[in-house]
Amino acid sequence: MPRSLNQQIFVAALLGLAIGLGFGATGPDAPGVKVGLYLAGLVGNVFVDLLKMVLVPLVFASIAVGVANLRQHSQLQRVWVATLCFFVFSMALAIALGLAAAHLFQPGAGQSGTWFRDATAGFAAKQMTPLEFAASFLHGLFMNPFAALAQANILAIVVFALLLGIALVVGGERYRNILLLLRETLELMLRLVGWIMRLAPLGIMALLIQLVATQNAAVLATLAKFVAVVIGTTLLHGFVVLPLLLYGATGMAPLTFFNGAREALLTAFATSSSSATMPVTLRCVEQHLHVDAEIAGFVVPLGATMNMDGTALYEAAAALFVANLAGIELDLTQQLIVCFTTMLAAMGAPGIPSAGMVTMVMVLQSVGLPAEAIAILLPVDRLLDTVRTMVNVEGDMIGSLVVQRWVGRPG
Ligand code: ASP
Repeated sequence: MPRSLNQQIFVAALLGLAIGLGFGATGPDAPGVKVGLYLAGLVGNVFVDLLKMVLVPLVFASIAVGVANLRQHSQLQRVWVATLCFFVFSMALAIALGLAAAHLFQPGAGQSGTWFRDATAGFAAKQMTPLEFAASFLHGLFMNPFAALAQANILAIVVFALLLGIALVVGGERYRNILLLLRETLELMLRLVGWIMRLAPLGIMALLIQLVATQNAAVLATLAKFVAVVIGTTLLHGFVVLPLLLYGATGMAPLTFFNGAREALLTAFATSSSSATMPVTLRCVEQHLHVDAEIAGFVVPLGATMNMDGTALYEAAAALFVANLAGIELDLTQQLIVCFTTMLAAMGAPGIPSAGMVTMVMVLQSVGLPAEAIAILLPVDRLLDTVRTMVNVEGDMIGSLVVQRWVGRPG
């Protein structure tokens, strides 16, 4: 029996994959498999629900307290700028990698024609131009905080908590009780996360059983090249580019990082949701990777919705894939437009399963590609979402380590 939680989660994930494959091979209608899948659904959902339960108070308290603490060290502006610079830089790298891989391997080339037309016929995608998208993104930033908290609208919560944090500091001593209350709320939420994580091995195993057992092998085979290119490039970004960036900026060895980050990476892989994983991400960053709470509390919640390397890489590669399928060649200007809209789309996508699919429509439309093409991408999205969410979360953790290094330790 593996002793540490880290090891238990790892073994459980492997077991989940193996059992899922077994269930998939037996077929979903065998009586034993039916019961197994039902139980896996039950346990997996409870695990995700528990994480979501603590998510909102955790984000709110961690941002407000993080900002209040930073301001005391007059470092807010540096952290803010460093964080945004890191997000934009790492996503730009991911997009470049996605485009390069699509050029190199040309997935979808030679597959255009009637198959593409048949697959997309009758599928109407919701249309949105980049300008409309930017307007709705901006509009979504400011909300009645109670509505935002009740709807778990993370971006709006982040914005309100940021402003509240600043007001707390400007008000100083006058608001010390509220600051104390928020600090203790944060501590309490992290205690709950610790308890929820005891269920993580079981929860992650259940989620992976469900995921693997319900994949459609025939669809996967048709899109095999695209799936392989996206997964391969995303893993390259996650296991080579980002660790190199981390090593270059902080000197931290990749192995040390992955050891500390493993719980969050596996949770992201199994849940396909950066938001649901956020409580675990914060725990890993603060407790295993020793990032100061004020920096982690700021970078991680913001990154969970704004910093998505995996999504950016995926959307850039998928745009070229669709262009190949539709038999359209994108010129350099159009590819630059793809870069820009992909960045916007990745920043605007909420950290929930398949969010990237929704914002993908905007990327396709920005260069006149048929938005209906997402009908082709949807059947493989659940699978691709696992790896891209894992890399999204990894980017947030690496971001907080790099930002801490750039601005120096507060205090
Ligand atoms: N599922 C991803 C995330 O939560 C977003 C996406 O669909 O790309 O980070």
